[in-house]
Amino acid sequence: MATQEINIAGAGIFGLSVAWALLRRGVRVRVSDPAPIATRTSGGIVGALSPHVPENWNDKKAFQFQSLVMAHAYWEDVARASDLPTGYARLGRLQPLADDKAVELARGRAVTAQELWRGEAVWQVIAADGTAWEPPSPTGMLVRDTLSAHIHPRLAITALSRAIEAGGGVFGPPVEAPTVWAIGSADPLVTGVKGQAALFEFDARGMPQIFADSVHIIPHLDGTTAVGSTSERVWENDGPDALLDGVIARARAAVPSLETARVIERWAGVRPRAKSRAPMLGPHPDKPGDFIANGGFKIGFGMAPLVGDVMADLIVEGRDVIPEAFRA
Ligand SMILES: Cc1cc2nc3c(=O)[nH]c(=O)nc-3n(C[C@H](O)[C@H](O)[C@H](O)COP(=O)(O)OP(=O)(O)OC[C@H]3O[C@@H](n4cnc5c(N)ncnc54)[C@H](O)[C@@H]3O)c2cc1C
Repeated sequence: MATQEINIAGAGIFGLSVAWALLRRGVRVRVSDPAPIATRTSGGIVGALSPHVPENWNDKKAFQFQSLVMAHAYWEDVARASDLPTGYARLGRLQPLADDKAVELARGRAVTAQELWRGEAVWQVIAADGTAWEPPSPTGMLVRDTLSAHIHPRLAITALSRAIEAGGGVFGPPVEAPTVWAIGSADPLVTGVKGQAALFEFDARGMPQIFADSVHIIPHLDGTTAVGSTSERVWENDGPDALLDGVIARARAAVPSLETARVIERWAGVRPRAKSRAPMLGPHPDKPGDFIANGGFKIGFGMAPLVGDVMADLIVEGRDVIPEAFRA
């Protein structure tokens, strides 16, 4: 019986993932946002759903792992409910290994991954086989993990909002009801960290994503390839600038087949970062009766499926399974 009603302030990935989870538990949701869908940070182009290294396990890594494992079914569900593509594919990730020490470290992580990833995916050290998509590796060795996936943020957020509408969710002004505040970097409780990314006209569909020289290279299913990102605590204007040229150059060095590919979009957004660098979930610290879902920082899309679930557990069932480290 759909009696409970909840306002969601903010239609980025955090707000929409909470709205979607609530809707599926029979709650009536009203989503408000002054900006059109997919025009703010969540309307970006990178979309890596990739894990932290499998060692020094903590609540954040465990939460992210569980969310990444959920991602396949989650985005498939969204695509089905919206009849729109999300760009989701789990094709793994390659990372070059710079020296013998890095190889040794990676081999150790292959062992810890067996336990921590519980057979859901592997982290392994492999020999480069010289294919064009592979990043050059000084040791001739690469890390390959099979947990990494990607979505296309702009498509995914559009599909998720359509799925919510199709399920009876309303996009419009709030009503008299508790509110989940998911307003990203507009919230004074978080700090904004600017990031920039670029999109190449380069079709590498079906290839694994690459992380090399601190650059994520994501081959999207629509025949484009995204590269990112910068990270700036201080900036003069919100748009892309010359700093992005460095990312583009590093991506071209990491994957020589990108060398002549045309850049078709330059993009910038502001990531919401909590002081703890972990998501900020649960009852709102300053607004009694309301809730907060924020602090996605660099992995908001990777965390989203489980963020929606734990927020719905709390709001609908009063069951609080939010990690202590995520308290606002
Ligand atoms: C360059 C770059 C690359 C990235 N790459 C990745 C990646 O590879 N993988 C990954 O998982 N994450 C990545 N991220 C991070 C990810 O994009 C963010 O974590 C995520 O988008 C944050 O979502 P959000 O919903 O919290 O915020 P937002 O997307 O900013 O949404 C907040 C919304 O709230 C609205 N709003 C503001 N004030 C109000 C109000 N008063 N009432 C109602 N609505 C309001 C805003 O208009 C906005 O639409 C990247 C970010 C950047 C910038």
